[in-house]
Amino acid sequence: MLDGVQIIPTRTPTLPPATHTNTWIVGEDRLTVIDPPSPWPQEQRALFEAIEDRLLLGETVERIVLTHHHHDHVSGVDALKRALGEPVPVLAHPLTAELLHGIVEVDGHLNEDQSFDAGGRTLRALHTPGHAPGHLVFLDLEQRWMIAGDMVAGVGTILLHPDEGDLADYLASLQRMQAERPVALLPSHGPVLHDPSSLLSMYVAHRHMRSAQTREALITHGAMTPAELVSYVYGDLDPRAVPFAALQLRTHLRWMQDHGLTRPADETRWEAA
Ligand SMILES: [Zn+2]
Repeated sequence: MLDGVQIIPTRTPTLPPATHTNTWIVGEDRLTVIDPPSPWPQEQRALFEAIEDRLLLGETVERIVLTHHHHDHVSGVDALKRALGEPVPVLAHPLTAELLHGIVEVDGHLNEDQSFDAGGRTLRALHTPGHAPGHLVFLDLEQRWMIAGDMVAGVGTILLHPDEGDLADYLASLQRMQAERPVALLPSHGPVLHDPSSLLSMYVAHRHMRSAQTREALITHGAMTPAELVSYVYGDLDPRAVPFAALQLRTHLRWMQDHGLTRPADETRWEAA
């Protein structure tokens, strides 16, 4: 079903319980490589060896494309460029390029709704902010599979970090993805996800449920900090996940404040509005 895309997971220092990030090689003959992720030489070698199998068949890498700026998606860019031994342009959304300034050199931009030929397949870039400001997903216009990056996950959950995440944007982006009626979603972490329509609806519903639980806890137990709220909203969490859950809740609390559902009680605590 997923003609024209090869998926190569390599190990990365990503958010547990995920341990790997997927790279996608799209097209034939002139390949597009999306997200060379790992900072670890052994993993960079593994990725290059998979690409090299294609080069030995006479194929070439035409471009490297990035879904977004996070380190577990871009830390293998320079190593891949070196291994390829010839200049290959790196393309990303302008906001991603800005965030990677001084970290990874981005040579060109991909904007909202921009289509490009990827070795015989036409990919359309959709700007889907929420997890990261410059996040792009890529829709194959013929078969309608969608490279979903960190908008959804096959393993683990999507963190909306309060410094750069935005729940309103994220919900709108999920709905935008759904409107394209993809037949499969290819997440950065974990296996291909089928039945995208139900999955994306579930993702939206899940976020609304978390917000409702948060408000419920504030009504029942009074003002709390995001860290104090974690056990009421998430129940028994792996202690390593608690700081991330608190960050996630900050993003939710801000969205809820914008919707008149919560307000700051003092410097650190929130209450129901
Ligand atoms: Zn990310």
